[in-house]
Amino acid sequence: MKNPACPKCDSLQVVKSGIINDRQRYRCKKCTYYFTVNKIGKGIDSYYVTKALQLYIEGISYREIERILGISHVSIMNWVKKYKIKAPEQTEYHPTYKILNHAELVEHLKNSSNLKGAGMMITELGDKYMMIKWTRFKD
Ligand SMILES: [Zn+2]
Repeated sequence: MKNPACPKCDSLQVVKSGIINDRQRYRCKKCTYYFTVNKIGKGIDSYYVTKALQLYIEGISYREIERILGISHVSIMNWVKKYKIKAPEQTEYHPTYKILNHAELVEHLKNSSNLKGAGMMITELGDKYMMIKWTRFKD
């Protein structure tokens, strides 16, 4: 996992700077701001746990989630067990996803035909955006 971005100036030039109340503390080299995140030891930021489980519920396979988020499929399987997540059977709708940067996302949304016949959800993913789309299977 990469270091988190500085919440104040968005710089990625941060260094670990001790642990405060079980939370990793970082110092931003650019603006010298100190901040902590909920990530300690081999733990992964809960944001990514939520994202992984979200994708799992959408019917995306462990291997694909591993590829999208860079989190081992073993971790994802463990979370699914830990949180007792059950994905509903996907029959009528088929989820697809795309990872886009901001310009690509704007370009995609500009074309109104891309918004027809499908539901979609856009979530932030690092410095990019993930777009999940549901399209009905053709009979
Ligand atoms: Zn900073």
